[in-house]
Amino acid sequence: MTERTMARRRRYQQRHRRNTIASWIVGAACITALLTIVALGCKDYIDEQASYENPQNSLPGLVLGESKTSQSPESAAPVYADDTDWNLRLVNRWNPIPEGYTVRLKELSGGEQVDERIYDHLMEMLEAAREGNWDETPRVISGYRTQETQQSLYDEEVNKYKAQGYSEDEAKAEAGKWVAVPGTSEHQLGLAVDVEGTTYDVFLWLQENSYKYGFIFRYPGGKSDITGTVEEVWHYRYVGVETATEMYEQGLCLEEYIEQKGL
Ligand SMILES: [Zn+2]
Repeated sequence: MTERTMARRRRYQQRHRRNTIASWIVGAACITALLTIVALGCKDYIDEQASYENPQNSLPGLVLGESKTSQSPESAAPVYADDTDWNLRLVNRWNPIPEGYTVRLKELSGGEQVDERIYDHLMEMLEAAREGNWDETPRVISGYRTQETQQSLYDEEVNKYKAQGYSEDEAKAEAGKWVAVPGTSEHQLGLAVDVEGTTYDVFLWLQENSYKYGFIFRYPGGKSDITGTVEEVWHYRYVGVETATEMYEQGLCLEEYIEQKGL
């Protein structure tokens, strides 16, 4: 074999090795691309399934950026109250909010939020309440609350009693009279608001007129044994005009109404 032949063979072998390495690289890239495509396809499928099972993922409000969706973070399956009786859902100390309850929220001008379905009714009522409030629109000082907000309000109240020398159990019992135990507050439904007026008269106006807008004076003093809550003149709950009117005319609280209707 001549010198020249051997040199040619070496060049050929080097070129062959380069080509082989290049083929491996191209091959590996092709496999990676293929795996990525398969993985993305699966992900799309999984996302699609998730959004089908979880209506929260496909809420129009999220796209518009106008409404938000909230739910307790520890919850597994979201419960979105699209049932016909959503406005009659009972939450009190004996009936906690369903785990994973999900609300579509709409923000009020003061920053508080409510279930978007009651927004217009609430605005109408607050506007009309001007006549009982020195011509000023009453404010909503508390609307929707998350489980965490309710927990911190409750803990604060318990600590207040503990600081006064109450035992843990006594402090909890006392606090529970004023602040609902987390999970049992209507505020977590997004259907209740605490109203503040310029004058106390606004509460008297609301007691006489709120039903026209679908809201009820939820905790009257005379019904504390049934509602499990002491009188709260500022707390209003949406139930719908028809129900609120019936309750107002018959002097029923929500627990009584629900029992009477066998709901
Ligand atoms: Zn309240």
